[in-house]
Amino acid sequence: NFVSAVVPPGEIGVKFDDIGALEDVKTALNELVILPMRRPELFTRGNLLRPCKGILLFGPPGTGKTLLAKALATEAGANFISITGSSLTSKIWALDGSAIVVELRDILYKDVNCCWFGDAEKLTKALFSFASKLAPVIIFVDEVDSLLGARGGSFEHEATRRMRNEFMAAWDGLRSRDSQRIIILGATNRPFDLDDAVIRRLPRRIYVDLPDAENRMKILKIILDRENLEPGFQLKSLANATEGYSGSDLKNLCIAAAYRPVQELLQEEKKESNIDVAPVLRPLNFDDFIQSK
Ligand code: ATP
Repeated sequence: NFVSAVVPPGEIGVKFDDIGALEDVKTALNELVILPMRRPELFTRGNLLRPCKGILLFGPPGTGKTLLAKALATEAGANFISITGSSLTSKIWALDGSAIVVELRDILYKDVNCCWFGDAEKLTKALFSFASKLAPVIIFVDEVDSLLGARGGSFEHEATRRMRNEFMAAWDGLRSRDSQRIIILGATNRPFDLDDAVIRRLPRRIYVDLPDAENRMKILKIILDRENLEPGFQLKSLANATEGYSGSDLKNLCIAAAYRPVQELLQEEKKESNIDVAPVLRPLNFDDFIQSK
């Protein structure tokens, strides 16, 4: 789906505090997006503090780029439109059924008559016209390399080429009044696949790196915040044993560890006939994982 979600700011459910580490990235996004959106009056004088229409988040998979984009919308008090680059000519739909989104979707349909079946250019026009009605808004283009990747020569699908050109034209056409209130935030794991023309339109590029041990500890602290952990569990040992793990890998590891006590309890229940006893899950531990390192 072209537009995979449209979410008003209060409903995103992720804040900067829910993201471990990445302090420099949060600081940069604060200066580039949050402040100009929250305090536009501070950015009107002179030419130096011009709003930035496009920002690129790049880095290895699972390092929190999508999470950052969502939290950014919350922090900036902006609506959030999420587009996935890998599918461009299919339906437009809004995930969220809340009244505000339905109403906005109606506006969108009115603008383009009907766009259930893909017409890439119409969809792109609709997207930008929709966005100006929603402003302040963050348009998050995940896998931006698929939507706006390097030109594919003669093998490139005509619809893809038209879509890209239309997207760039609409982007360039954002009036300066709008550009402070409509930010395109692209994310990619493959920055080298991006077209030069796109790179130019994303003048601020922020690297979202894999966490080191100290930052893994910060991320684990957030992920395990509400878990019942075994007494004596050392966050530091786990952080040290997870070299090379992304935030997403850490989350998956913790989910697996949280599932173990459930499996064990189910096994026990199978063995024992006395199932009247209220089930008690043992606390989480990562002993096997850490010892196997
Ligand atoms: P991809 O490039 O593969 O699309 P991504 O960089 O967009 O990945 P996310 O989708 O944001 O990564 O991260 C996946 C999940 O990993 C998040 O929903 C979150 O649960 C967890 N996660 C990643 N980074 C962090 C972090 N810094 N703090 C807390 N949780 C994190």
